[in-house]
Amino acid sequence: MAENSPQKHYDVIIIGSGPAGYTAGVYTSRAKLSVLVISGTLPGGQLMTTSEVENYPGFPSGIFGPELMMNMRQQAERFGAVIVDDEVTQVDFKTRPFKVITHSESYDSDAVIVCTGASPRKLGLKSEQQFGGRGVSYCATCDGPFFKGEDIVVVGGGDTAVEEATFLTKFGKSVKVVHRRDTLSASKIMQEKALNNPKIEFVWNNVVSDIKGDKKVGTVLVKDLKSGKETTLKAGGLFVAIGHEPNTSIFKDQIDLDDKGYIALKEHTRTSVEGVFAAGDVHDHRYRQAVTAAGFGCMAAIDVERWLSEKKHSN
Ligand code: NAP
Repeated sequence: MAENSPQKHYDVIIIGSGPAGYTAGVYTSRAKLSVLVISGTLPGGQLMTTSEVENYPGFPSGIFGPELMMNMRQQAERFGAVIVDDEVTQVDFKTRPFKVITHSESYDSDAVIVCTGASPRKLGLKSEQQFGGRGVSYCATCDGPFFKGEDIVVVGGGDTAVEEATFLTKFGKSVKVVHRRDTLSASKIMQEKALNNPKIEFVWNNVVSDIKGDKKVGTVLVKDLKSGKETTLKAGGLFVAIGHEPNTSIFKDQIDLDDKGYIALKEHTRTSVEGVFAAGDVHDHRYRQAVTAAGFGCMAAIDVERWLSEKKHSN
């Protein structure tokens, strides 16, 4: 086997490369286990699409999301974790060793840690699909600079929507936040920032009903939930910030999920299949922070290490 080429069997395969995946990679590889991290379609996860992270401990002046994730990746590699940038398409947790299949390879492992996180929720409009990448975006940090001087619409009322709206005022001529309620659920400090920003206007009790344009987004139609009245907003861009869905479709018939599709944990970080563990936003819809995901990654790694050593001693 060529040096540095990935071997096919590992003690543990970590699926996903957000803070949970990389932290699990640091802990398991430092514990001298053979570790493969399969990064998924967005190596580094959601923080790769974030600007400054001010609440990750250890960085008193803040750190940029991509830099934080590159640091975590290098830290896992330092202890020997093999990281491949590929996407898992199928798993088989019914056989031992477990099988994890990607677009280009098939791997075996004694244990698996699922850290696949969650993806942005869609509005579900046909026109949303039509204008994807042509004015409709799910990440202000990634795409904001493309909307210089434009009128921008943001949908949602949580932390993401409010944070993105504030960030987008750096680029847009105007920013309108369309929210289906008359109050925000974002944290107070972020609300205050947005409510006091003269470039942001709130369109309360409204939902986006359609998106129109020629080659790219030109207008966004909103509907008032109380009066039923439709209004056309001029918009060069629409940022959808309405929460996330867990990335669990490939695990549906393999491990127990809860009614929202998140992985249901049995005991600590164990899933319904012995030897398969989960960490981060893929099971946690309550906290969803980088630091909590990293914490869960650490917990899963320790659980895996103990489980593997118990298994070895009982054989
Ligand atoms: P969220 O808190 O779940 O908020 C989703 C928002 O979208 C809500 O206002 C919701 O309205 C609305 N919504 C959901 N489905 C919708 C639909 N189909 N049409 C229109 N509106 C819809 O999601 P989030 O803002 O992405 O935040 C997720 C987590 O990350 C939270 O725990 C948050 O605190 C955290 N976060 C933290 C930071 C930070 O600290 N810097 C930044 C971003 C996110 P309803 O209230 O009516 O359901």
